[in-house]
Amino acid sequence: MSDTRSDTLDTLGNKADATAPSSDAAGSEFETGLAPYAAHSPQSRGRRFAEAPPAARSEFQRDRDRIVHSTAFRRLEYKTQVFVNHEGDLFRTRLTHSLEVAQIARSVARNLRLNEDLVEAISLAHDLGHTPFGHAGQDALNECMRDHGGFEHNLQSLAVVDELEEHYGAFNGLNLCFETREGILKHCSREHARQLGELGERFLLGRQPSLEAQIANIADEIAYNNHDVDDGLRSGLIAIGQLAEVELWQTHCEAARAEYPQIDGRRLVHETVRRIINTLIVDLIDQTRRNLAEHAPKSLDDVRAAPPLVAHSERVAAQAAALKRFLYRNLYRHYRVMRMANKAQRVVKGLFDAFSDDPRLLPPAYQKTHDPATQPRLIAHYIAGMTDRYALKEYRRLFVVSDEV
Ligand code: MG
Repeated sequence: MSDTRSDTLDTLGNKADATAPSSDAAGSEFETGLAPYAAHSPQSRGRRFAEAPPAARSEFQRDRDRIVHSTAFRRLEYKTQVFVNHEGDLFRTRLTHSLEVAQIARSVARNLRLNEDLVEAISLAHDLGHTPFGHAGQDALNECMRDHGGFEHNLQSLAVVDELEEHYGAFNGLNLCFETREGILKHCSREHARQLGELGERFLLGRQPSLEAQIANIADEIAYNNHDVDDGLRSGLIAIGQLAEVELWQTHCEAARAEYPQIDGRRLVHETVRRIINTLIVDLIDQTRRNLAEHAPKSLDDVRAAPPLVAHSERVAAQAAALKRFLYRNLYRHYRVMRMANKAQRVVKGLFDAFSDDPRLLPPAYQKTHDPATQPRLIAHYIAGMTDRYALKEYRRLFVVSDEV
């Protein structure tokens, strides 16, 4: 991965005046009807490398399109959400999860007159840095990287869009707008924040990201709580009867049965899940409207200085938390999920150790034998970029004596 950046390009981030607000600024025709506190792409804090404005679309649309065309986005199809890809064709993967997050986030954004293109870009990119095998893979890689700065999937998503994608002639990465990158970086330690300059500032100053970023963050939770219930039931690891203890489930399951007395099986599950998603979305919109009325932000700067404004009501937040606790106890800690997680951790650790012991086993682009300090990070980039099945194949190639090389 050579550094192909051109020194002749300025960073827009240092030239705030060049993108100063203007009602007829390039791209404003694609963003009509937005609230004053929405993120408006003509007022973006810009890209790391200056580029000519896009034709026929806004800057945030361009970000969304770059994400959809990226290699990392296609890899999401074969990365685990909860169930490892080969366990069944109908379970969510990181790709379908990201699409569901984008659907929910766009619904909320449109209702609040916020920027749908930005919310979509953030949603589609938010998991680009996930390792194979879901959280088990991330925990294993973080453990492997303990003495080398750790591994965190949020920071890795940022590394993917800032550095690792090799698509463009003038720069590494996708050169996304500040607001998209800010939304991708959901959380970050103070130590990392200090190294991230302008992007890390808000974690040090206790300020908020755009409302669009706040929406994508909560849409992520709404999506996984609901699709994990659905996948959990589909897999048979949890049963409908167990969910009776979860108020959010029980209320909507009863409502579905009241409307369709004969309903059963998959149809009942979906009629319940769609009601829960709808309730969560409507509650999120209503409570956020109340928060906006109370704090009355007039601009994105006001949003940054306010407390988090995108939120559920207290009652629904408590209900959603109860569903999350149920999933933690009954699905994420289910012995069959734990077995797969354990196996996944051994694969990730095995790969990391083998490459660390002998970097010559790595593809040439990831070898930095003359610079041992950067080698662990390159190994982490290589492993994090793997799909589940690629990681398993690589493991077999390294550890199983066969004719596979
Ligand atoms: Mg996610």
